[in-house]
Amino acid sequence: MEKHQTDPARASTVPQVAPIHPRKLAKVPFLELTDGRLQGVVSSGSDIERVYVSSISAGDHGLSCSTNNNRPCGGLNGRSSCKHIELLLAEAEKQFGATQVARYLSIEVAEGEPLFGGLHPTSAPGHAAEVFSSFLRHLAYLEIPVSTEPLPELQWFPAGPAQP
Ligand SMILES: [Zn+2]
Repeated sequence: MEKHQTDPARASTVPQVAPIHPRKLAKVPFLELTDGRLQGVVSSGSDIERVYVSSISAGDHGLSCSTNNNRPCGGLNGRSSCKHIELLLAEAEKQFGATQVARYLSIEVAEGEPLFGGLHPTSAPGHAAEVFSSFLRHLAYLEIPVSTEPLPELQWFPAGPAQP
């Protein structure tokens, strides 16, 4: 048996795969388990042009959350979490399955309980720039067919230059 369960930080990157359960892409357009963290991009509930970059480190549950303008999230402090972290974790459960996410982050909850309840958060340095560049790479990899349909992954982007 490999010992990757005992050292989540060294676990290999989990590739983006089709979610196990349907996800709300408009709320959490991007998430990944990588570099010993769950990290992702979470839409602001109130401002369509704002997104939050949130992450949870494996093992010590270091939380970080800041806006795409690198402003710290007002809802997050050293001892409690914010709704973006909660959403990120809930969507990660749908994407990867609760068992895999719990194992990766070392979260212990009773079977069927939300993983959020098993966090013992501390504050951690943010990784907004890394997460954002990873997100943009992810968008670039998507082979987006030419379409007039709105793309869930792109909904949070501010509108481009005005069309003539
Ligand atoms: Zn937040």
